[in-house]
Amino acid sequence: MEVDSNNQCVPLTEEDEIDLHRRHPQFPPVSKSHSKTNNGSSNSSNTLTSAIHTSSVHELLECPVCANFMYPPIHQCQNGHTLCSICKTMVHNRCPTCRQELGDIRCLALEKLAESLELPCKYNYLGCLEIFPYYSKLKHESLCNFRPYNCPYAGSECSIVGDIPFLVAHLRNDHKVDMHSGSTFNHRYVKSNPREVENATWMLTVFHCFGQYFCLHVEAFQLEMAPVYMAFLRFMGDETEARNYSYSLEVGGYDRKLIWEGTPRSIRDSHRKVRDSFDGLIIQRNMALFFSGGDRKELKLRVTGRIWKEQHNPEGMPNLSAT
Ligand SMILES: [Zn+2]
Ligand SMILES: [Zn+2]
Ligand SMILES: [Zn+2]
Ligand SMILES: [Zn+2]
Repeated sequence: MEVDSNNQCVPLTEEDEIDLHRRHPQFPPVSKSHSKTNNGSSNSSNTLTSAIHTSSVHELLECPVCANFMYPPIHQCQNGHTLCSICKTMVHNRCPTCRQELGDIRCLALEKLAESLELPCKYNYLGCLEIFPYYSKLKHESLCNFRPYNCPYAGSECSIVGDIPFLVAHLRNDHKVDMHSGSTFNHRYVKSNPREVENATWMLTVFHCFGQYFCLHVEAFQLEMAPVYMAFLRFMGDETEARNYSYSLEVGGYDRKLIWEGTPRSIRDSHRKVRDSFDGLIIQRNMALFFSGGDRKELKLRVTGRIWKEQHNPEGMPNLSAT
């Protein structure tokens, strides 16, 4: 039995992109005097002056076109109007302010001025209290532990981001994902017509146990021309926390059985990345049909599994990421 060669899961967009073009609007920059420990009330007027000063510098650093913070190279036209480097590529060499030819002039003064600024992490509203020099802020934000998670749903492009409770509600309400309580499971995946792959190449179930949420992915994909089935668990939280848990998966029938045991990957790792590193239970097509029994026309896989909490964190995990 053949499966169409387009039997491939739709890849998710990469999660690691740093979105230079977005910032959280509700937090004004913090001056250096704010970020230091409290020096007493005597310099409160200094702090105020400094805050006012910083806010006008902050305005200078806002791109007049997209209103995002500008990072080097900051450009300017011959009349001195500034522009961020992303917008510059989109204005066809015309200054959007005065319509003069833009040329290739850097605004070094503004780039230098930015170095003196300190700003709160843009995930301040999610609990990050850190404050950074202007140029290291972006780097921190790309790794910040408070940064929102991407929607873990695979199979369609979904741009929803948020914290875990928000994403759990989103999976339930918008993707109609099955939710289960408990740390053991016993599911049967049935596909009556293995040729019909469009809507049946992936499945997501969310498990709630130990006060945490886990995503169980079961899906079919092409591996070097051969269709294979794969099941793996992802932890809805950070990688360090994911290491506190282990899981096992078992699939079998007719006196054969495959067992997988591992640590769930964090949903910080995209679904695609985990799949491409084969970090889960892999079932070859022939075995899958064998486990299904019958006339090999229907796929019936019984997947059982268990999630448990580890007593200690394993150190020095090798890197399974396919980069
Ligand atoms: Zn811009
Ligand atoms: Zn201009
Ligand atoms: Zn942060
Ligand atoms: Zn989604």
